[in-house]
Amino acid sequence: MAQITCARCGRTVEQMQDPPMRGKYGEAVHTQVCADCWSEWKGQQVMIINHYGLLPANPADREQLYLLMKEFLNLQVA
Ligand SMILES: [Zn+2]
Repeated sequence: MAQITCARCGRTVEQMQDPPMRGKYGEAVHTQVCADCWSEWKGQQVMIINHYGLLPANPADREQLYLLMKEFLNLQVA
């Protein structure tokens, strides 16, 4: 499996087996983020959704969540 250097923690580790989500963000996470940081984000995401009352089924809310994810994980998304 390919090695990646995680954009959040800076460790060089094996890439997650599959992109954890679809689309360009899933691709970015897959190539830039380690499994540990991804699970940290998943915990954070639950708190953010509750805190802001976001509805991930709603495109505007989902976009806001993606932006927060991008910031949290230090992602480069084209
Ligand atoms: Zn990491």
